[in-house]
Amino acid sequence: MESPDNRAFYEPARDRRPQFWRLAMRCAQIAAAVDVAFFVLFHLLGSPILAWVNVASVAMYAGAYYALKYRLNKTAVVLIWSEVLIHAALGIVLIGWDSGFHYYLLMFIPAICVSAPRRWAVVALLSLWGYYVALDVLMWFIEPLQPIPQSALYVVHLFNLSVVFAMFSYLASYYLRMVVLAQRKLRQMATTDSLTGLFNRRHMAYLAEKELARFQRSGHKVGFLLLDVDHFKSINDRYGHEVGDRVLASVADLIRRELRTQDLIGRWGGEEFLAILPDTDAANAQASAERVRNAFLARNWHAITGAALDVTISIGVSELRAGDDLSAAVSRADQALYRGKTSGRNRVELETA
Ligand code: GH3
Ligand code: MG
Ligand code: MG
Repeated sequence: MESPDNRAFYEPARDRRPQFWRLAMRCAQIAAAVDVAFFVLFHLLGSPILAWVNVASVAMYAGAYYALKYRLNKTAVVLIWSEVLIHAALGIVLIGWDSGFHYYLLMFIPAICVSAPRRWAVVALLSLWGYYVALDVLMWFIEPLQPIPQSALYVVHLFNLSVVFAMFSYLASYYLRMVVLAQRKLRQMATTDSLTGLFNRRHMAYLAEKELARFQRSGHKVGFLLLDVDHFKSINDRYGHEVGDRVLASVADLIRRELRTQDLIGRWGGEEFLAILPDTDAANAQASAERVRNAFLARNWHAITGAALDVTISIGVSELRAGDDLSAAVSRADQALYRGKTSGRNRVELETA
């Protein structure tokens, strides 16, 4: 059984960073809408050349959008880059640096850093910087080719500034969301077992240390259950590994259901599970273990696995003692478990005093 989280690892290369390309599609849509607004604005301001430039821009963004949709990512990148570079240069050369069309170039900086491999990112950033500076210097020496009235220039400047401000805010919040989601996913992958969804052994050891520290501070009781599926190897041998896996996932589910939400449950080994029961003495831990064992007997395993089998479990119980470390408490539960195995299995055994 494969968890949805693990599936992301096996995605083909072209599907990697899908969020980035989805974001690019959204940006192409927004940019096309902005250019439609520009078309109207420049007609009203009496700058027909710039107005018609926006028609070409909308066409390029539409092309980029459909290229992204059909996974022609490179074509889309070329279209978007060309549009922004040409549009910014035309805007600046026609109506002047104060129009603020150069701000759009800055939006490539985060996009390059996120999407390009490091070496290409350095080249692209330097080229972008060169382009930006060249435009700036050019405008020191030439006058705008199609100037618009000063008041109209203010309007265009404020419009461009506001659009870039809004787009940066949107991109920043989008990147933040992506980082938070990625962190959450990583944390989950690092702490859980993908087959059963329980904590993995390393995380259980970490949680156990915290519980041990709490025990040393406050002396509250902590129960340990070591649970091992009986004759699991023969289930694998007889019905195959896949059925074995299904049984394991179902065993984990059953243990989780029978214990309390505050109990810490992890996959300790192949078909072995560890449960740490806070605020629980040995007698109560034993009662919980009996509840789990009985739930195994009551469960309709045939309905779950499709195989005619019964699954039982043996459980060793111990209670945390002063001076214990994790391995001492687990080792006493393991000895009890061993007794359960040798005296017939499907048993709960308590540690010896
Ligand atoms: P006992 O009652 O003494 O515990 O016998 P057992 O057969 O359960 O124990 P044994 O240690 O001999 O075998 C455990 C088996 O669990 C062997 C191993 O192949 C299987 N196993 C371990 N991890 C997995 C897993 O992730 N999936 C499956 N299907 N089998 C696993
Ligand atoms: Mg076993
Ligand atoms: Mg075992």
